[in-house]
Amino acid sequence: MPELNCGEIGWVKLDLLSRGIEIDNSIAQFMRTTSPVALRKNFYNTPLWVDHSLPVPQELRLSGVVVGLNSYGPSIWRLKWPGEGTALILENNVTGQQYQPKLIEDLRLFAEIKEAGHIANLYGGTALAFFSPRTCYLFADGTECRFCSLAGTAKETKNYKAILSDREIEETVSEALALDKERIEQIMIVGGNMRDLDAGFRHHISLAKAASTVLERAGLSKAVSVHIATMPPFDLDLIKMLADFENVHVMFNLEVWDQGAFSVICPGKERDYGRKKTLKALEILRDVIGAYRAHSLLVT
Ligand code: SF4
Repeated sequence: MPELNCGEIGWVKLDLLSRGIEIDNSIAQFMRTTSPVALRKNFYNTPLWVDHSLPVPQELRLSGVVVGLNSYGPSIWRLKWPGEGTALILENNVTGQQYQPKLIEDLRLFAEIKEAGHIANLYGGTALAFFSPRTCYLFADGTECRFCSLAGTAKETKNYKAILSDREIEETVSEALALDKERIEQIMIVGGNMRDLDAGFRHHISLAKAASTVLERAGLSKAVSVHIATMPPFDLDLIKMLADFENVHVMFNLEVWDQGAFSVICPGKERDYGRKKTLKALEILRDVIGAYRAHSLLVT
């Protein structure tokens, strides 16, 4: 079966995300025969659009690239397992093309310490991700970013902590390093946003600092990076708090480049912060933490 080259895999990934993948019942059987797979926790993912009684893998790896496993019901893409002694197959039933993806093995952390699964997630195969707070004030105002799944997934998951403490981050990162040191390449601190953007920014910085401290203690601060995705603060001087960090990447997400589309798709961000100030914050961020460490997502 063919491997995809880097140009092709980008298009296939977009197609898989937008059309979703139908999951054959044989996948449940496959998962019983293999090491524990990272399962969808419906928190960092698009909500599941089908009532699936079987556990659903969170992601798969195709030609070296990790793809979120969205499932919206019937699709031209189908994931199946022909049976004992065979590999998984991802099939496009329009072109007839078949590929051999792999599922992502879960961290030992989540198998051995159940509570850790309510605090963190494995994302992209190598990122230990923390989400705090799990709400975003823009939903309360009805001005959330129009693509955002946060409220939907929060409803489907009851056991996650609403807001994480520095101590929980420290403990979970320490446990992860003890059990899965060779798997983890980055720690992600992501979240919804607090109405007081300065308080929300300080919260994210504080959690990231807790993670950094553990990495430093373990001598891993060069090997494992810390990534923060947050709204920029109102007070742009607060960005200087990031100057003390080693190996940090920060995202202030503009989400949409075009000004007109930005105000339609991100009405709350437009109302409370705006495109111009976000770009200004990104410039300051780059100056504080260095080029290629300041990022901004654009949603495709
Ligand atoms: S700011 Fe982030 S969490 Fe809040 S609605 Fe927009 S995408 Fe969702």
